[in-house]
Amino acid sequence: MIPRRTPLKRSPVRKKRPGVRKGQPTNAEKEAERNRVYDRCGGQCELRDEEGNPLHPKHIFGVLPSNGSIFERWHLVHLHGKRRFGWTEADGNTLLGGCYWCHIVASHQQGKKIQEVR
Ligand SMILES: [Zn+2]
Repeated sequence: MIPRRTPLKRSPVRKKRPGVRKGQPTNAEKEAERNRVYDRCGGQCELRDEEGNPLHPKHIFGVLPSNGSIFERWHLVHLHGKRRFGWTEADGNTLLGGCYWCHIVASHQQGKKIQEVR
């Protein structure tokens, strides 16, 4: 072993966050907003690209269940960062319904851009 001359760089230990951040809605408020958007879009995935096509080839058509496994259920999708635009549309964000493939895979993992319809 060669002795080190410089100390190992360590990232500072992060303090644990309090339960609910300032400006963040309670679980009940998030649930109400989720239900509101679910009803508005009829439980369907609304994520489309600039040409109006689903974001992912495996996109699920039709009504998705509100609950269930992450692969099968309907997703509430925030089009803008929650920190800056807020959690609800009343706060200034835009929310859409999504399926697993369009939301998690195409949008988050592949970085595909969602066309904002509203
Ligand atoms: Zn989809």
